Amino acid sequence: MNQNDSDTPLRDATRVVGAGRRPEWTAGVVNTPVWRASTILYDSVADLRAGAAGDTHHRLFYGRKGTPTQWSLADALTSLETGAEGTFLYGSGVAAIAAALLSVLSPGDELLCPDSAYDPTRGLANGLLRRFGITTRFYDPLVGAGMADLIGPATRAILMESPGSLSFEVQDIPAIVAVARANGIVTLLDNTWATPLYFPAIGHGVDLSILACTKYIVGHSDAMLGSVTAGPGHFAKLRDTSFQLGQIASPDDCWLGSRGLRTMAVRLKQHQSSALEIAHWLKRQPGVAQVLHPALSDCPGHEHFLRDFKGSTGLFSIVLHGGDDAARAALIDGLALFGIGYSWGGFESLALPVDPHRHRTVTSRATAGPMIRLQIGLEDPADLIADLDAGLARFRAARG
Ligand SMILES: *Cc1c(COP(=O)(O)O)cnc(C)c1O
Repeated sequence: MNQNDSDTPLRDATRVVGAGRRPEWTAGVVNTPVWRASTILYDSVADLRAGAAGDTHHRLFYGRKGTPTQWSLADALTSLETGAEGTFLYGSGVAAIAAALLSVLSPGDELLCPDSAYDPTRGLANGLLRRFGITTRFYDPLVGAGMADLIGPATRAILMESPGSLSFEVQDIPAIVAVARANGIVTLLDNTWATPLYFPAIGHGVDLSILACTKYIVGHSDAMLGSVTAGPGHFAKLRDTSFQLGQIASPDDCWLGSRGLRTMAVRLKQHQSSALEIAHWLKRQPGVAQVLHPALSDCPGHEHFLRDFKGSTGLFSIVLHGGDDAARAALIDGLALFGIGYSWGGFESLALPVDPHRHRTVTSRATAGPMIRLQIGLEDPADLIADLDAGLARFRAARG
């Protein structure tokens, strides 16, 4: 695709359609094809030697260094973030988080990690990172500018995740970035919920923006994929570390990621409006104590959402009023249109029992009852509301 020549930046829906479709990679068809490769063949020994010399960026060399299929998706994700230097792709979101952290941390360093982090992120901090002499201090995700008091002499990186997993605290990212910058500390953000369309992380000064592409980029619940997009000065280290770790995302899965990306702007619009309609409806229902949706005032950090985000997506949690695990299961088990399972970001709705307090170590927020996380898919919201209405009746009956 040709770049836009005018001064007006292209809008999101236009950018996701054109992103990454360079003519040298698409070679005349609309979508960059699947290039499956390990061996790349050379014409001669001289040609082989020339191929190994210099930078292999966007040049066929060996399958592990990628093919146009991976380059096209990486290039697309880079182009969605104003000011980004480059993107590396991984076989999962967790692999992306691990590579990003390993690209900035060394033995003796300290990582600051929000208490609301995705649980496998916590597992990485308490497992591999600890084993390699990197310590982690967990912090209250709502600390904001108070981050300045948490920084110690060994603090090298601050990880953020906004909104937080399961409980949806929206962080004051500009305040945390300002503190980090003043202290020469690298910032990383798990931006999976908002995507670059609703929170352009690099533009907000974040150094490394991480996506579980498994969710909204792929968008159809049929592939695992992750990405890290680097801000100025951070891509070379990220790429070197990732190559040393032997990271390569499969071309077939990258193709699915590119396929998903084309419709992401329209999908997110629908996820947003359906989830908002359902969240507002849930807030009025007996049996629902709290709706933890960043765009609703019940959600901790809602004011940061209003200030910083361009939109909301399809994932949020509710707190039930009273009841136990069995009453919650009565609600979920009988749902006809919501699947029960991990992950999210596909076209189909999901309901998941969640217990964030089980994972937290430095914060605890009392809740009125058990929690359910909802992924609102692309079904008609009126049908989803009817399904949830019957579910809440089952919950109230079971609760007594
Ligand atoms: C799912 C998820 C991940 C991990 O992604 P995978 O592709 O499942 O490894 C990371 N962060 C958040 C916020 C997620 O929801």
